[in-house]
Amino acid sequence: MSKRRPLVAGNWKMNGSRAESATLVSAIKQGMSTVAKAEAAVCPPFILVPLAAEMLAGSAVAWGGQNLSVHKSGAYTGEVSGPMLKDYGCTYVIVGHSERRAYYGEDDVLVADKYAAAQAVGLIPILCVGETLQEREASHTETVVARQLDAVINKHGIGSFKNAVIAYEPVWAIGTGKTATPQQAQDVHRFIRGRLAASDKAVAENMRILYGGSMKGSNAKELLAQPDIDGGLIGGASLQAEEFLTICRAAD
Ligand code: PEP
Repeated sequence: MSKRRPLVAGNWKMNGSRAESATLVSAIKQGMSTVAKAEAAVCPPFILVPLAAEMLAGSAVAWGGQNLSVHKSGAYTGEVSGPMLKDYGCTYVIVGHSERRAYYGEDDVLVADKYAAAQAVGLIPILCVGETLQEREASHTETVVARQLDAVINKHGIGSFKNAVIAYEPVWAIGTGKTATPQQAQDVHRFIRGRLAASDKAVAENMRILYGGSMKGSNAKELLAQPDIDGGLIGGASLQAEEFLTICRAAD
């Protein structure tokens, strides 16, 4: 059995009122008594992070941001920095989510800078990588994932991965209801671990690599049974407490 502790992180994206979020957080917090080993985290929109922080302080559930600025402070209207997230007790921050790459022009260089900005203040980046459908169909999955990983390894060193989580999220599976088959996901997870192992075997062995892309209660078990899948980054299904908790239990 792997010594890597499974992690199930909810990416709420731009969803939730204060009332809805309080109900969701409360149900997840309570339901954690049914989860034995897996670690759970929620990543609400920035404006709801204080609510999560207040409700989850001292609980088994961690919380984090969905993005951060590369800057610590200053004249950057609309941005939120790593120190601000840290100030609210965040453990994690998602960097390089495919929606940020696709809609906000975040390239590999910027993502690598955000990854470092997170680590600079003691946040654990959840680094998202993954190919589009077009790239998969052209058999470019490994090339794309390697490029996204190497952008961080080359800039910040393999040692930086001691304090990071990787999420493999095939873009074609995010929010589409189309899930990678367990074998498709496992193949890429194994590739990612191998890529890290080429630089540092211990880092590769300890790295938690999450799968993301339409994971839900009904398909989590099969995916999480794969040897190189160490948890999930969950979008849609993380907005329903029971679905999210079912995934956490499957990760046990
Ligand atoms: C995500 O946004 O990271 C994600 C995996 O979304 P979904 O689970 O909705 O596909």
